[in-house]
Amino acid sequence: MRIDVLSIFPELFEAPLQVSLLGKAIEQGILTVSVTDPREFTSDRHRTVDDAPFGGGAGMVMKCEPLFAAVESLSDRNSLRRVILLSPRGQPLTQRVVRELAAEPDLVLICGRYEGVDERVSQALCTDEISVGDYVLSGGELPALIVIEAVSRMLPGVIGDWESVETDSFYDGILGPPQYTRPPVFRDLAAPQVLRDGNHAAIRRWRRKEALRITRERRPDLLGACGEDDRALLKEIEQEEAGPEKEVES
Ligand code: SAM
Repeated sequence: MRIDVLSIFPELFEAPLQVSLLGKAIEQGILTVSVTDPREFTSDRHRTVDDAPFGGGAGMVMKCEPLFAAVESLSDRNSLRRVILLSPRGQPLTQRVVRELAAEPDLVLICGRYEGVDERVSQALCTDEISVGDYVLSGGELPALIVIEAVSRMLPGVIGDWESVETDSFYDGILGPPQYTRPPVFRDLAAPQVLRDGNHAAIRRWRRKEALRITRERRPDLLGACGEDDRALLKEIEQEEAGPEKEVES
């Protein structure tokens, strides 16, 4: 997969693209990320990429000409299917969106700065606007890195053991189960015995049930799409939490 990023601060991408799984994915050629500075597509002496907003008001707005020129310079621009503006007004980034983006052969990510980007960029250049949450950052670079890292995890070969992706939060809609490692007991806190007994069917069941328990507590909105097996486990959880008296009643 190829990702082109447009940013006036390309240096912000250096370290995150060099280390850990992302660094390896790039080294192995699974992912190519190219960061272009829209200033390279200006023609004035000061390499101006921003200007005062029409109508007045605070701050500056990113101009459209350098961004259009930068995207149009991409050699395979005719086949680009997704040109994405990072924006707090965009569609929320969810695992479903991440998987959809990971299925594309290439992406273009445009990082705004200042008060934002001239509206004509989202109107006529971009196919999508994506938000990483209901808060405002100073630029689209960290959101772009979030998109890149989340998408890269879905590319075959990036995560060695696909099972670890499948048990991650949101992969199949709910939150992930709790995890433990050695020592078995730490300051009177014991790791659940079932995880240490080696019964894989029991471990799978425990993990699913605990994942459902946590989702029910923290994100009940995610439980809507649960199947029959999950609903049976949820019923068990409800009964456990209701206590023995209610269990008898039902
Ligand atoms: N005035 C804009 C607004 O209210 O929507 C916010 C501009 S923000 C200071 C500058 C840039 O940071 C945006 O153009 C966008 O690229 C990026 N940005 C800030 N928050 C973001 C978020 N939650 N998700 C994605 N991008 C964000």
